[in-house]
Amino acid sequence: MEIRRTMAKTIIVSNRLPVRLEKQAEKLQFKASEGGLATGLGSIYKEGDNLWIGWPGLEVADNQKTAISEELSQQNMRPVFLTAQELEDYYLGFSNQTLWPAFHYFVQYIQYNEARWVAYRSVNEKFAQAILSYAEPDDVIWVHDYQLMLVPALLREALPEAAIGFFQHIPFPSFEVLRMLPWRQALLEGVLGSDFIGFHTYDDMRHFLSSVHRLTGYVYRANKVNVERRTVAVDALPMGIDYEKYYQKACSREVADKVQEFRSAFGPQRMVLSVDRLDYSKGIPDRLRAYQRFLEENPAYHTKVSLILVVVPSRDQVPSYQQLKDEVDELVGKINGALSTPTWQPVHYFYRSFDLTSLSAFYRLSEVAMITPLRDGMNLVCKEYIASRFEGKGALILSEMAGSAKELSEAILVNPNDKRALAESLLKGLEMPLDEQSHRLKLMQESLRRYTIFQWVKLFNQNLAKTKKEQSILHSTRLKPDKFEPITSAYAASQQKLVFLDYDGTLVPFDKDPEVTIPDKELRNLLQETAAVEQLDLVLISGRPRDFLEKYLGHLPITLAAEHGIWLRTKDEEWQPHAELPDERWKEEARSVIDFYVNRTPGSFLEEKQHALAWHYRSVETGLARLRCSELSSHLKHMLGDKGLEVLEGNAVVEIKPASINKGVIAHNLQRRLKPDFTLAIGDDRTDEDIFEALPAQAFTIKVGDGQTRAQYSLDDHEAVRSLLKALLPADS
Ligand code: UDP
Repeated sequence: MEIRRTMAKTIIVSNRLPVRLEKQAEKLQFKASEGGLATGLGSIYKEGDNLWIGWPGLEVADNQKTAISEELSQQNMRPVFLTAQELEDYYLGFSNQTLWPAFHYFVQYIQYNEARWVAYRSVNEKFAQAILSYAEPDDVIWVHDYQLMLVPALLREALPEAAIGFFQHIPFPSFEVLRMLPWRQALLEGVLGSDFIGFHTYDDMRHFLSSVHRLTGYVYRANKVNVERRTVAVDALPMGIDYEKYYQKACSREVADKVQEFRSAFGPQRMVLSVDRLDYSKGIPDRLRAYQRFLEENPAYHTKVSLILVVVPSRDQVPSYQQLKDEVDELVGKINGALSTPTWQPVHYFYRSFDLTSLSAFYRLSEVAMITPLRDGMNLVCKEYIASRFEGKGALILSEMAGSAKELSEAILVNPNDKRALAESLLKGLEMPLDEQSHRLKLMQESLRRYTIFQWVKLFNQNLAKTKKEQSILHSTRLKPDKFEPITSAYAASQQKLVFLDYDGTLVPFDKDPEVTIPDKELRNLLQETAAVEQLDLVLISGRPRDFLEKYLGHLPITLAAEHGIWLRTKDEEWQPHAELPDERWKEEARSVIDFYVNRTPGSFLEEKQHALAWHYRSVETGLARLRCSELSSHLKHMLGDKGLEVLEGNAVVEIKPASINKGVIAHNLQRRLKPDFTLAIGDDRTDEDIFEALPAQAFTIKVGDGQTRAQYSLDDHEAVRSLLKALLPADS
């Protein structure tokens, strides 16, 4: 019996599964992760056919794999087994010694190792293969983090219709840092296989978009990138915590008991808390030095305050982490050695991890939390601390460089490189009046209660679904040379034909100099032959000035529309304006503005048309071009808005022309006048969208190139357009 699935399933993919295999007394055991991601996604992957795919956290012998897979399968998980060599090169190597330092701006730690890159690529392929062995074409696949940046594109190749999301849990660096990596392009192309890409902060997303534009050339507008025929949406979605869990835990009896236990062990001092994984990005030595400076500058606090320093072991096989551990050990030893008294220990140092009960007791016990990473994608510890301060007391010192600082603006925000500010922030935290503590905490708690991990998951899924929906609305079908059939047969069956063709980008390729792209012999012949077809009206409708069209195409028996339709020349009549034109005085004013931009922007130039002005910027440096383009168009819109003019942003051109005319008006008028039973319109840019919109639904509309369009079909380039036109010609021509 055939089993039919009724709903698409969701597949979560991350480097690690939400359980961890551990060897205890030679027996393998599964230990569930308490991490935020596992909590947030728990309700999703455990449901129905949904799955979580990832590495189970341990190298496993071949004869154990089947049993492990079966056990995981009962919990909706599928393992990707990795060999010791793969872990070394892909995980510890490329992920943690190339991507991690680069993305956290520690460029001095970046290792450039080709063999590790090759391993990274092949492990990403391994993950993709594992996913593809379970995925169906319409599934939702959510890939997590920097270890798997190539996976989305690998999936896209095999499952063009799948909904693929990617979330980056660590920062995304500025283009200036990303460009240092020899593999930058492949990494970006990999992530762009997704439909929706999430980052913790707006800055991360901004960096990503600008890198994409500069390194791949894909154009973006607001938060959408046009990747060939797909629109990829990018957004900032800061990850939250399970607020209730931390709040309830802190209120619990067992945590109250633990607080008592710790208190009697530590003594009566006021406590400052520091909790991180061992990582150079966390700024632990800088924090210790700031604490030392604070004690030196404020002797009154000696014996009155202690620092609880929790450092969770991490990546300790990596040399830079071993050095960091030595540095922390030494600093703690120095401070305690110099300042301790028989009844006071300035730093209580723990190089280990704690369970939630103990951690929550630390959160409750500490009047101040000092979370000052040099760089952090988000940082959840500070959020957990805030959620645990249910009595409305406590101060949070938070680094500006943590993603969470964007949300927790009521914390004492500090630049972790500013040694003085760091030491002073401690004094500020310890001396903050109670009403101020409670006011600041309340605001932060309200925000964290609203933007929980569950809300984050919900928003991510909604964004992904919305992107898919928008894609389907603006979806055009790519026409391949062997698939012209729907158009050729409708054409053959028709009596009266009308064909609209744009010129630049449609019939000829672009060039930096528009004067270079004159019609070649093949094109002139093709237009001639098309125009000779009986009962066919051919309209070449371009932004070019009429002199240009007249000079190169004036001999053809076709209709020419110049300057987007301001001037019209039918095959039997002379050039004439197609509409009433506004007073020309605007040109003087607009010309002086455009001149101003030409003078400031090397590589750009002004094109003067009879009733329009165009500012071309194809040769201008990428980022600068974008900036100037938006500056100029808003300048012009503001200045000329009420004078019946329109500012158009075309393909590397900003054009200003009378608003009453656009290509759509011409198309509409000719369509009405000639009443064809076959209409075809082909164009490549924004101005051609007006034609597509103006024509009736049964017309064939084709966009040339990528990007969103109202057209029903799309073609690769001007060569493909020429092939289609040839396919329409009678067989004997
Ligand atoms: N954590 C823990 N036990 C500890 C110290 C930390 O379980 O002894 C948890 C902490 O509750 C938090 C996570 O580890 O949820 C650290 O997340 P964060 O985003 O702050 O830092 P990351 O390690 O992901 O860079």
